[in-house]
Amino acid sequence: MKHPILIQGAMDSELTLLIQATAPHKFEQVGNFRFWKGAVADTPVVICKTGIGVINAAAATALAVQRYSPRCILNQGTAGAHTRALAVGDVIVGEQVCYLSSFSTERSRGEDPLNPWKPAAFQSPEGETISYHANEVMLRAAKAALADEPRVTFGCIGSGDLWTRDPSSLQALHDMHGTLCEEMEAAAVYLTANNLGVPVLSIRVISNNEGTGEPFDPNSALRAQELTLKLLSFLHT
Ligand code: SAH
Repeated sequence: MKHPILIQGAMDSELTLLIQATAPHKFEQVGNFRFWKGAVADTPVVICKTGIGVINAAAATALAVQRYSPRCILNQGTAGAHTRALAVGDVIVGEQVCYLSSFSTERSRGEDPLNPWKPAAFQSPEGETISYHANEVMLRAAKAALADEPRVTFGCIGSGDLWTRDPSSLQALHDMHGTLCEEMEAAAVYLTANNLGVPVLSIRVISNNEGTGEPFDPNSALRAQELTLKLLSFLHT
């Protein structure tokens, strides 16, 4: 039997189109975690509603890997822009993820708008690198699949249990970490997938830009799903 591709979304609005397109023959529920087993062409697909936030996303990912042994994980959904250069509808492909809910404080406050809370670095105190990296094969597939799409950027997704609204904080996060956007699941998904040796990639469509004042646009969730379906056809070889 072929291993399925696991596709994740946090909210119903990020999943409806995908569920339609993969014509599920089976629905499974474990506690609050929901799974739809379907297919695209002859590739089995499991769609998973992770729920919002990194804690939900970590549990949902570990559970799905144990239950379905997916050959790869496609995480997708909406995100807020970290730079004024990005507009609603723009696409971010996560080459890597920067975890933004890991905090350390400075001894004095100074003039830094992010003080006292500051995302910690990518390394543990012992120097162990904590991995939040996308799979290279999936990245290549995304480059091919999205080659004719406008406004696609490959780079770093910021991720944590946060919604940043202050423009100077957004700019500071962008300057400090090179993050292009923020969302609330990818860090948990990348870390869990990396720890379990499952290839992973996240695609996010910008749904709001607090820096330029563009409000949340629900259509971004549809675009993320359309692009995910497009990418799927490049992955099921
Ligand atoms: N405002 C939306 C709810 C979004 S809740 C509504 O009213 O329907 C947050 C979800 O959207 C998370 O799953 C997260 O991944 C994503 N998200 C979109 N923009 C975000 C932002 N600016 N900051 C953090 N998460 C964001």
